[in-house]
Amino acid sequence: MRRSVLGGDPVGRIGDKFAAVLQDIRSVDNAEAVARRIAAAAPARIGIAVAAPGEYGPDDLLDRAAMALQQARLRPDGARWACFEPGMTGGTPLAEELRVAVGEGQLRLVYQPIVGLPDGGLAGVEALVRWAHPRRGTLDPDAFVPLAERIGIIGDLGRWVLEQASAQAARWQRRMPALQLSVNVSPRQLDDDRFAGQVLRILERTGLFPGNLVIEVTEGAVIGEPASVAQLAVLSNAGIRIALDDFGTGYSSLRYLARLPVDVLKLDRGFVAELDGTSRGSAVAQAVLRLGQILNLDTVAEGVESEAQARELTLLGCQKAQGYHYARPLSPDQFQRWLPTGDLSRYEAEIWGPEV
Ligand code: C2E
Ligand code: CA
Ligand code: CA
Repeated sequence: MRRSVLGGDPVGRIGDKFAAVLQDIRSVDNAEAVARRIAAAAPARIGIAVAAPGEYGPDDLLDRAAMALQQARLRPDGARWACFEPGMTGGTPLAEELRVAVGEGQLRLVYQPIVGLPDGGLAGVEALVRWAHPRRGTLDPDAFVPLAERIGIIGDLGRWVLEQASAQAARWQRRMPALQLSVNVSPRQLDDDRFAGQVLRILERTGLFPGNLVIEVTEGAVIGEPASVAQLAVLSNAGIRIALDDFGTGYSSLRYLARLPVDVLKLDRGFVAELDGTSRGSAVAQAVLRLGQILNLDTVAEGVESEAQARELTLLGCQKAQGYHYARPLSPDQFQRWLPTGDLSRYEAEIWGPEV
């Protein structure tokens, strides 16, 4: 490799790969000429990335070279090099990156307030996962949670979310003892019969009270899944609350519902979006909320984006709401400002009585 580049150009080893920095190379053609020389001298695959002075930093340049290398490995035409192009996605396929991301701390949690109706006072918070991808920016769960389920790492991801959110909420709890933390759990997590035990141990470790945790599952996760229901029953007996997410979109099997260990119905945002002041628009919302009342469940409307929706939901007897009308998902620091300020010791005195 050294013989293939100019004397002043550094060549070195980075992990299990080698890199050369071709200074003043000026054009992609020139870089390809060097790659051709290297390829003639050694049985290597080569990824090329070219940057104008100051265009991007060394890490980005290396990332782009790595993506190009991935392309070079896949080339059908026998050429052993490839040059980075803007459209290139993930050097390593997303799945491989996701495996690494969970272990390397690339996941983040954002927190969306859940408020009481009609007053809008803080009642709880839902933890929502994000992937701070090193090249693609922040990814929403739709872009990687289904992938995590497919490749069998949703258990690791879910444990990380629970641990992180519980530790965070345990600290917030000191300022607001009644704060409810909602965490989303995938059906695939319930397939693992160690799940309930893991949740209880996380609560023990983080100091979050079971009564302050809400596990959100979709109906599909539990209908016809007795083993999953048994795990939820264990959690429910420990004082953890269970919410049915996206309610109204799935089976909505009324017979099952009455028997499930469920405490909360979350009205899917699709039905909130249909609210328009008419009885047709509110039909499903009304049915779900009435069902909640009959079964004595807490009801939370998702995706509330306007004052009119909030008012209509209040009239329909909905107890809580969540949505952009109140707040977008927030960073922990931003959410913190939603907590009652006030004197911590006052809350502590309320729970444990005045010091003697
Ligand atoms: P979800 O449980 O229904 O979460 C609510 C979603 O609605 C969030 O999207 C939130 O940002 C969005 N949202 C909140 N308010 C509004 C609003 O007023 N209007 C509209 N249009 N949308 C609103 P997000 O964060 O992209 O999450 C998408 C889904 O990904 C979640 O849906 C949940 O099913 C799943 N998810 C999120 N975090 C986790 C996690 O830690 N584990 C698992 N297994 N799934 C997760
Ligand atoms: Ca949810
Ligand atoms: Ca939902």
